[in-house]
Amino acid sequence: MHSPSTEPRPSLYYPYEVFQPWLASAHPAQDRKKVVVVGAGPAGMVTALELARHGVPSVVLAAELQLSQGSRAICFTRRSMEILQQVGVAERMTEGGLPWRFGNSYYRGQRVYRLEAPHDPDDRFFPIINVQQQYLEEYLHDACKQQPLIDLRWGNKLTQVTQEEGHARLEVDTPEGPYTLESDWVVAADGGRSGIRAALNLQMEGASYEGFFVIADIRIDLPFPTERLAFFDPEWNPGNTILMHREPHGIWRVDYQLPPGETPEEALRPESLKARIDAQLAMIGHAGLAWEMDWSSVYSARTLTLPDFVHGSVIFTGDAAHLLPIFGVRGANTAFQDAQSLGWHLAMVAKGLSGPEFLANHSRERVGAAREIITEAGKSTRFMAPPSRGFRLLRDAVLSLSLTQEFVRPLYHWRTSRPHEYSHSALNCRDDDNALFTSGPAHGAPPQNVRLAEDDFLLDHLGGGFDLLVFTSGDLPEALQAVVTAARQQGLPLRVTAVGATRPVAGADQHLPDADGRVRARYGLSAEDAAQSGAYLLRPDQHICARWLRLDAPRLQAALATALPH
Ligand SMILES: Cc1cc2nc3c(=O)[nH]c(=O)nc-3n(C[C@H](O)[C@H](O)[C@H](O)COP(=O)(O)OP(=O)(O)OC[C@H]3O[C@@H](n4cnc5c(N)ncnc54)[C@H](O)[C@@H]3O)c2cc1C
Repeated sequence: MHSPSTEPRPSLYYPYEVFQPWLASAHPAQDRKKVVVVGAGPAGMVTALELARHGVPSVVLAAELQLSQGSRAICFTRRSMEILQQVGVAERMTEGGLPWRFGNSYYRGQRVYRLEAPHDPDDRFFPIINVQQQYLEEYLHDACKQQPLIDLRWGNKLTQVTQEEGHARLEVDTPEGPYTLESDWVVAADGGRSGIRAALNLQMEGASYEGFFVIADIRIDLPFPTERLAFFDPEWNPGNTILMHREPHGIWRVDYQLPPGETPEEALRPESLKARIDAQLAMIGHAGLAWEMDWSSVYSARTLTLPDFVHGSVIFTGDAAHLLPIFGVRGANTAFQDAQSLGWHLAMVAKGLSGPEFLANHSRERVGAAREIITEAGKSTRFMAPPSRGFRLLRDAVLSLSLTQEFVRPLYHWRTSRPHEYSHSALNCRDDDNALFTSGPAHGAPPQNVRLAEDDFLLDHLGGGFDLLVFTSGDLPEALQAVVTAARQQGLPLRVTAVGATRPVAGADQHLPDADGRVRARYGLSAEDAAQSGAYLLRPDQHICARWLRLDAPRLQAALATALPH
């Protein structure tokens, strides 16, 4: 019998709620489910919310009775916020979060590099916002509770999954004993130690780095702004790296590397934590300042991915699909992109709009993303924690040169998580005008946000299905309207937006003004082309799959057929 803890987790700032378990005896017999999501972490909940947006119901199994322990992921990128906006939690993240855009790297007491992440008036969100993962999970959980298509079951632990013909059978254990569920699809969002991955005996590819890092969250009143602080080779921890981040609620994250040979158990002894945190505080000029420990943990850097995320009826996502180093804030930020991609691909299959082989596209795209991240993160990891004598020599040369030489300083850039571009996706239109554009988001890129008014942005109006942006103030040609109508009759979710129109446009579901031509310009359409309509087709995850200088009915039909093969 599964007995999750009913004792609220300790925290100096987060009031953990213990939820009631979902018990099979209180519910009628279980019919076969369309989708069961295993795991109520960021990946599982965003997948369920995305599926619900596309009208697909899901059961979410959560082994525990509480949100996750400790702050874990604390830095969320702009693209993550755009995804969270789509599932309705960005406002709460903004209210409670600490936005930032500067990072400082120090060596021998000197600031040797200052990174300024770009932020322009067209961005609704800052490059990064700091929020503890428990809050993020609370906001996602609240959104799930409000969504009638999501059945989130606390205290329900998956213990076995068996693949049958065209579906899976799941054994689920609860505080009153086990029950069985059948589901067409199973989303394995059960985290880095995925039991499903182990049960299916799947191997990940990539590298694991030696050495450990301690993450410690302390409550302390430090007078520094919300900026990333990185200290290389400090006197109290020679050869190693220390990172510091301000978190909401008076908490600071101190993240330091351990000397070779030290075990996690040794590192987490209270006296060891205290000595090192005191040494770090002394180094930044705050020796003796009072602090309290909230949570600490140890991790090692791994760059591993499954080479395929789809295995029969089981689809892996988030940490269950790949393990990425946290340098560059990649864990949860990548999980959102996985979940958003999986949400729409799986919804199209579950609704019969495409065949199961469509999921191979999701896997190809997201494995490609994981591999790109692994390459990037590997570089950051080797700089932060050189894995061999050669790498250390090179890193140390950069450190010492950076004291006097400007040209090496950009090597400190820590390559923050950024959205993968599906430039070679099979869903990109083959005979559109992508190659004729000289700017604007290209095939596979995420969309460019644009400010329309004080608190009104282009992306506020998009999402939930395919979006066709037509840059016109005139009515859409009837032939084009007929293609849109036919696509919708087949069930394809497609919204048409007339950009640059100040009155309703026949054939468009909504119109957005573009008085100063800013949206046109950012989408690579010059003012001289204003006579031509120009158009973009966005997939449900908002990535661009077609763009035209001139759109007509056959071209739209071809693009839709490529973006969603039947
Ligand atoms: C100690 C630690 C520190 C971290 N620090 C950072 C950081 O600083 N920055 C960063 O970006 N990322 C960090 N991460 C990574 C980040 O937390 C993850 O990338 C993120 O949570 C991934 O989300 P997920 O939903 O894939 O997995 P998880 O958040 O791990 O969620 C998995 C969920 O599945 C549930 N589950 C597992 N097995 C079962 C089962 N059999 N049945 C039902 N439910 C099950 C678990 O209880 C959990 O709720 C950290 C992770 C850890 C563990």
